[in-house]
Amino acid sequence: MAILPGSTLGMLGGGQLGRMFVTAARTMGYEVIVLDPDPGSPAGGLASEHLARAYDDREALDYLAQHCAVVTTEFENIPADTLAYLAQSVAVHPSAEALEIAQHRLREKDFFRAQGLETAAYLALENETDLAAASDFGFPAILKTATLGYDGKGQIVCQGFEDLAQAFHQVGGKPCVLEQRIDLACEVSVVLGRSVSGEVSCFPIAENRHANGILDVTLVPAMISDELAEKALDAATRIADGLDYCGVLAVEFFISTDGRVLVNEMAPRPHNSGHYTNDACVTSQFEQQVRMVCDLPAGSCHLHSPVAMLNLLGDIWPPEGVPAWDEVLQQGLAKLHLYGKKEARPGRKMGHINCLGASREDASSLLEKVRQLLT
Ligand code: ATP
Ligand code: MG
Repeated sequence: MAILPGSTLGMLGGGQLGRMFVTAARTMGYEVIVLDPDPGSPAGGLASEHLARAYDDREALDYLAQHCAVVTTEFENIPADTLAYLAQSVAVHPSAEALEIAQHRLREKDFFRAQGLETAAYLALENETDLAAASDFGFPAILKTATLGYDGKGQIVCQGFEDLAQAFHQVGGKPCVLEQRIDLACEVSVVLGRSVSGEVSCFPIAENRHANGILDVTLVPAMISDELAEKALDAATRIADGLDYCGVLAVEFFISTDGRVLVNEMAPRPHNSGHYTNDACVTSQFEQQVRMVCDLPAGSCHLHSPVAMLNLLGDIWPPEGVPAWDEVLQQGLAKLHLYGKKEARPGRKMGHINCLGASREDASSLLEKVRQLLT
């Protein structure tokens, strides 16, 4: 049964994704209770209520279960036990099972393969003795820790087998995945919503450019052939169906120079590469998450304007004061989003700007102009 405006929703995690969810939900007339241990969390201040408690605090979880019609998440490293505990007494979307797969690179890749999808070649490395098995692996390759990696953290490029032992040591000898490095034509992602009853609606494919392992720019529409686009949309849908997923899911892809569509990873939540939807689509990915977890029909994913999203990292903050927002705001088609984080650190995601335009080229030119104003 649909959960209607006026009801209270629970959000596990209080980062920028939670903040934008809270904004969307409250705009639609819902109340939101955020659970995040950080008293200064970006979402906490905008929520109807903020529980600054640990994710495994049973009292806080019982409170959520009692007061919320449904609980969702914005952070894939919420302990799966937390979701399982909540699920005993309240609806939880996405499920603990989906999070458990997304939390672990090896489980995730095995799952993609089990769905019949192509990934970069990979090998599991649990301990030092496993390393020998990589002697005939195709290098160059990237060693990635199986858990807790994000924004390219916990990744080391190995040019050859001889680099592997040192790299494994460098990541602390933790369980890893060794992954073949792909010659990339480009990277794309699919953000989709899947309802309780299994209906899938995909936002337009996003083309993503990274700098230093962190998303820098997203361009929509993506410049890929219809055939490749179809493959990516089909693969993302197959993943969501395979998980019997409910909520918003993002799937990242590598498009190789030889024309293959390889699944990279998934995020069981709205995604940085879907931030363009805030200003360029009829429905934002955050409104879609509200609709999906509340068992409402999907909002239209129609793109009403070409768009180029620029991520704003802490690097552009001057030692004193703030970046030149006044100049950015002179641009009527540049939409500024800041996450309310007090401290700017290099590599920290502080906000983003959606640059709209009559064409993808216009949107890109505005993005470059805005970038100049900020550097
Ligand atoms: P996030 O969760 O922030 O997306 P992550 O730390 O989980 O990042 P990945 O998505 O695995 O990292 O990798 C980050 C980026 O590094 C990719 O988007 C891509 O640009 C590059 N990269 C990672 N693996 C490969 C690969 N096998 N071949 C080529 N490039 C790669
Ligand atoms: Mg990634």
